[in-house]
Amino acid sequence: GMKQRLLVVANRLPVSAVRRGEDSWSLEISAGGLVSALLGVKDVDAKWIGWAGVNVSDEVGQRALKRALAEKRCIPVFLDEEIVHQYYNGYCNNILWPLFHYLGLPQEDRLATTRNFESQFNAYKRANQMFADVVNQHYQEGDVVWCHDYHLMFLPKCLKEHNSKMKVGWFLHTPFPSSEIYRTLPSRSDLLRSVLAADLVGFHTYDYARHFVSACTRILGLEGTPEGVEDQGRLTRVAAFPIGIDSDRFKRALDLPAVKKHVQELTQRFAGRKVMLGVDRLDMIKGIPQKILAFEKFLEESPDWRDKVVLLQIAVPTRTDVPEYQKLTSQVHEIVGRINGRFGTLTAVPIHHLDRSLDFHALCALYAVTDVALVTSLRDGMNLVSYEFVACQGSKKGVLILSEFAGAAQSLGAGALLVNPWNITEVAKNIEHALSMTSEEREKRHRHNYAHVTTHTAQDWAETFVSELNDTIVEAQLRT
Ligand code: UDP
Repeated sequence: GMKQRLLVVANRLPVSAVRRGEDSWSLEISAGGLVSALLGVKDVDAKWIGWAGVNVSDEVGQRALKRALAEKRCIPVFLDEEIVHQYYNGYCNNILWPLFHYLGLPQEDRLATTRNFESQFNAYKRANQMFADVVNQHYQEGDVVWCHDYHLMFLPKCLKEHNSKMKVGWFLHTPFPSSEIYRTLPSRSDLLRSVLAADLVGFHTYDYARHFVSACTRILGLEGTPEGVEDQGRLTRVAAFPIGIDSDRFKRALDLPAVKKHVQELTQRFAGRKVMLGVDRLDMIKGIPQKILAFEKFLEESPDWRDKVVLLQIAVPTRTDVPEYQKLTSQVHEIVGRINGRFGTLTAVPIHHLDRSLDFHALCALYAVTDVALVTSLRDGMNLVSYEFVACQGSKKGVLILSEFAGAAQSLGAGALLVNPWNITEVAKNIEHALSMTSEEREKRHRHNYAHVTTHTAQDWAETFVSELNDTIVEAQLRT
């Protein structure tokens, strides 16, 4: 029969658009996990709705961009500069992001945020309504609408108010914090009620789902059940759907001649030394200073290892216009410089720190030559880097040191060495353990992780969510 249509709504479309002329655009698909996940879902016909990341104020430009995007199965939502500033930079990134990751704001920003709260929240609602308007224009009966992430918590309500029969799911890609943290948010009730308008609400881990249900019971006084949250006989299903990666894409990349050559070069360059690897956006949540301090502690306590190990830290710049992120950057540079000065020799330094992103093939090669990967997130919705490392370790079978505060700790806990990133003594001990681990233990741990990463793929994740959403609606109809 006809394939079911899936409308995927996310703040950003999976393409970047560059304007080439008055009515011409060039588009580049960004091949993230979400894209390959949804391309691979069987029996659905997916379309994307979201912001293209550029402000287009003229009608000619908008029409041309719409046309170009249509070929990529994408539909743009046009936001103007002021809305982007208040909704995206303001409410999403300065309020929800830190709160959901248990980060305090710097004292000097706290009052400003409090003062700007209302106008930013209003912009957030307005922006969500703009996404809803585009969904409504394109919706056909029977479609499934899947809303993504903290940018669009108001969307389920906007959609259901317009059409109560629409099948609506919402998935959060970040942690959902303890209700004790969540309840400080001035708009706490509005946001919860709006998310609850969805038929199915999904999180990466069971803990995040539980925190969400507690917030609904404590703040809204609703009833939590094993299935979800109940409000006057209407159930919103709440469940955990841990995301995965397209592991085959990584395995295929390792077979390419160009990647093999890269692997060979890296192996030669670091011959005689164990390679440790960190790959993170340069964000407060990633615990990069903590990681580097733990590495310093390890060098202090294990002098024999000093010339036999190197830490490669890839720190992808993000939000570079925000002072707090600039401060983090210089803080990291300062620590790295101090440690390299302290433990470096005339010919080698213990830490190679890069402030830039790598292309996919270089990243795969790096994952493949690594002996120990170090993920020290202070909070992280899932952390896909840990999955990608495991997928590329089929022959090397290296060790993953993983923060217990990353969602991935729930799924890779049996194979990884789990650590509290705040305890640098503990992390240092685990580095030593990882580097001197017997091959039997290494292989056993790797087997656990590899089995998980290759069988819980992004595609399974998307299929499970969509079929659960369809089932949830059938069950609700049976109940009434
Ligand atoms: N990544 C990338 N280029 C780089 C470094 C990382 O494309 O130079 C990708 C990486 O492959 C991974 C993503 O960035 O898919 C990071 O995802 P993760 O869940 O670990 O953290 P997030 O950045 O989403 O917080």
